[in-house]
Amino acid sequence: MREILHIQVGQCGNQIGSKFWEVICDEHSISETGVYVGGGEDQQLERINVYYNEARSGKYVPRAVLTDLEPGTIDAVHSGPYGKLFRPDNSVSGHTGAGNNWAKGHYTDGAENIDQVLDVIRREAENCDLLQGFQICHSLGGGTGSGMGTLLMSKIKEEYPDRMLLNFSVFPSPKVSESVVEPYNAILSVNQLLENSDECMVLDNEALYDICLNNLRIAAPVFGDINRLISATMSGITCCLRFPGQLNSDLRKLAVNLIPFPRLHFCMVGFAPLISKGSEKYQSLTIPELTYQMWESKNMMCAADVRKGRYLTASVLFRGKTISTHEIDEQIMNVQNKNSSFFVEWIPNNVKSSVCDVPPRGMKMAATFIGNSTSIQEMFRRVGAQFSTMYRRKAFLYWYTSEGMDEMEFNEAENNMNDLIAEYQLYQDATTGSDGDGDGEYTD
Ligand code: GDP
Repeated sequence: MREILHIQVGQCGNQIGSKFWEVICDEHSISETGVYVGGGEDQQLERINVYYNEARSGKYVPRAVLTDLEPGTIDAVHSGPYGKLFRPDNSVSGHTGAGNNWAKGHYTDGAENIDQVLDVIRREAENCDLLQGFQICHSLGGGTGSGMGTLLMSKIKEEYPDRMLLNFSVFPSPKVSESVVEPYNAILSVNQLLENSDECMVLDNEALYDICLNNLRIAAPVFGDINRLISATMSGITCCLRFPGQLNSDLRKLAVNLIPFPRLHFCMVGFAPLISKGSEKYQSLTIPELTYQMWESKNMMCAADVRKGRYLTASVLFRGKTISTHEIDEQIMNVQNKNSSFFVEWIPNNVKSSVCDVPPRGMKMAATFIGNSTSIQEMFRRVGAQFSTMYRRKAFLYWYTSEGMDEMEFNEAENNMNDLIAEYQLYQDATTGSDGDGDGEYTD
């Protein structure tokens, strides 16, 4: 069995991570205490070992490591309804907190705690038959998930260089902001993600907030609302890994289909249907309707207008019992034919689709979207501009340098991200006839 090791870091990481486990436990009929209560789909246990260890007692235990630099969030997980699900000694928390400071998470307090976390990771990895890789849940705007999370990633890549590393990364937005230095923490993290992540699912709080407000008509969205969207999407993305099927059935295959160039591994994600409470009965849930919703910019969990860029690749995953693959193929072909200018023509067949028989709980049909679009540069430009405005005046820099951080790392992070934006633009402009260097000339 090809196992995945899940790691959740920091407050946001632990909150979205725990919600993810609640959702997938429900889908696999695993109770709050880890007992298989069955009665569901045949496929529920077929690939259960990808995410769960089977304990001697017969219970299913998440292959999950929970870490934070303050105890509050992890304590809340352990005292919550699913608290007994997680192996207690897989939780490692500090006491100081990272104070929304990336340098504290990456260089000082986080670095002091990292060996303890790595010990747990090693123990879990050694227990695996054939570990396929790691998935990390974290936010980029705080100190722990971002600073310590990225430190952990570099250690993991050092120790397991040939394993895949998938990130679920929450990007910050002033709409739900907690501190002014979030853009610093985020751009310093992107600098690391560029090096060490193989595929990063972008969860942009800016877009998530707007989806709650506009699509779901929640007057004052809170993290609970946003996290419900995130966990539904995480469940959709990992569905191919957890249930039997052909397409994207492991982390490497997922990356091979989606990532044409190693640095351009930031994916936009989406979920359909997104229906506000009370209007469920006015919507027809058909494959054309789901397909339509899925490709809509306002449904993307990343604040970027997909119509301003081009898709390098995309994957769509439908879930439900009576879904015809033929109809899906037709719909996707239709989307591509009608919108051909929004897909780079130099990657033929760049949209892959699949069907999983098991729908999300409480739904008949749903779809998850993963797209690698050059328009994602809009989000990087947004956070980058917030970073540069402060950095030009060196505002708040002393919080970082006083933790021993070199100012040069800020320069490097800013440049690395500007290079990334330029690369997206280059591939957006590249045509089959051009040599891809963006000057519009063709050379052999
Ligand atoms: P850490 O514990 O030091 O990693 O700090 P946080 O995880 O609290 O990071 C702060 C960033 O995460 C800010 O951008 C917050 O808006 C965001 N954030 C915090 N908690 C949540 C959450 O539960 N859900 C979402 N979507 N974002 C969160």
